[in-house]
Amino acid sequence: MLILKTAKELLDLRNSQKNKSIGFVPTMGALHQGHLELVKHSIVENDFTYVSIFVNPLQFNNKEDLEKYPRTIEKDIGLLESIDTDAVFIPEYAEVYNAGISYDTIDLSYLNSILEGPKRPGHFDGVVKVVSILFKLIQPDKAYFGLKDFQQVKVIEKLIKDKQYPIRLVPCPTVREVDGLAMSSRNVRLSPDARKKAAMIYQWLLKARDLYQQGCTVKEIEKIIIEDIQKHSDFQLDYFEIRDANDLSPIHNAQQPAVALIAVYLDGVRLIDNLML
Ligand code: AMP
Repeated sequence: MLILKTAKELLDLRNSQKNKSIGFVPTMGALHQGHLELVKHSIVENDFTYVSIFVNPLQFNNKEDLEKYPRTIEKDIGLLESIDTDAVFIPEYAEVYNAGISYDTIDLSYLNSILEGPKRPGHFDGVVKVVSILFKLIQPDKAYFGLKDFQQVKVIEKLIKDKQYPIRLVPCPTVREVDGLAMSSRNVRLSPDARKKAAMIYQWLLKARDLYQQGCTVKEIEKIIIEDIQKHSDFQLDYFEIRDANDLSPIHNAQQPAVALIAVYLDGVRLIDNLML
């Protein structure tokens, strides 16, 4: 596996690969099976797969979250090697933002106004900045993103569409622990007790899906689940909402594809998840 640290190394390699199909998986490291599934998808579907590991300060709206973000670079390299990844790009800040490649911005007014948007001001703008630079450097044919970050997938969809990048976005299913907790780099920050309790998040999503399939309205389900969450004092609810899975607009009729999205704090750690209903 090639380990690339500078934008120049990356561009030199990329410019020698004109006739290869290129897959790209952006990550912030502290890799787990969820990340590796994206990488495996890319390896199967492309001639050459790039993974990036970069903890992007611009997408952290909370300084403490950035400082506490787990960093396990040696282990990450071992994991990527074990599944035959072709190349990993591990840049310092300046290699991304001072390498002479301009970032793009898009109109995120709607996506910034719902769910994660108001809860994490500036987060998606930071995501767009880093992803647009990485897209320009790596010039992938396909880019792999996890549906665990459902709203992020919508942001990247809009970025690709608005900027007409010749890139196909491949959304990949959420990988879960045995008890249903969505894998996340932040899970390691949970105490053993909180880690056990965290399985409730998936249970609430499953309950929402059951209620939806029994014919309950969106408003009824949101009320039931929110009351349920509030009974568990370990959890602080950030939001629980059911929205249209295509564009995250509100649900007005039963014909719309629905997705339930949740964000809670547990043990001071913010966890998000979602489930198609
Ligand atoms: P991150 O390192 O958290 O920025 O995540 C990098 C990519 O991995 C993003 O596209 C995430 O949506 C995706 N990802 C993170 N956790 C999971 C998971 N449990 N299942 C599938 N994809 C995931």
